[in-house]
Amino acid sequence: MMEVQVTCSQCGSSIEVVPDVHAHKINCDVCGHVQDIKFTTDHEAGILKECPVCSRMDFYKQKDFNRKIGVILFVVAAILSIWTYGLSLVVLYLFDLFLFRKLSMVAICYKCRTNFRKVMNIADIRDFDHEMNDRIVYSDHDFKGKPLSH
Ligand SMILES: [Zn+2]
Ligand SMILES: [Zn+2]
Repeated sequence: MMEVQVTCSQCGSSIEVVPDVHAHKINCDVCGHVQDIKFTTDHEAGILKECPVCSRMDFYKQKDFNRKIGVILFVVAAILSIWTYGLSLVVLYLFDLFLFRKLSMVAICYKCRTNFRKVMNIADIRDFDHEMNDRIVYSDHDFKGKPLSH
């Protein structure tokens, strides 16, 4: 099931939701703000085409690296490397390479910064584009899911 992390438009807290076509509103646990949300059967199937929050179709993907866990793992590996002659750092590197890079990708809506995890069609979503980001954020341009063309 796709995991959706919405940013509260009122206080900026993150609200975790799973797609449900019958859910039309989400509540912020922190400030109580209620936001509209529009899930489709695509979302329920883990397919991301339209943002359930702002209904835009422009997303980018990036590695979903949990910084906190990364730092802890690195410290543990660095301490262990005293006894393992650096082998634990090699193990950590391989672990990062195979596990984090392959499995954890997150899709993010340019417009409202909603995060989507476990997206089935993640391969269709492009990498972050600075120009697209600037045009969406600052001039409110709508690319409708099309890549930037010159
Ligand atoms: Zn809030
Ligand atoms: Zn959005």
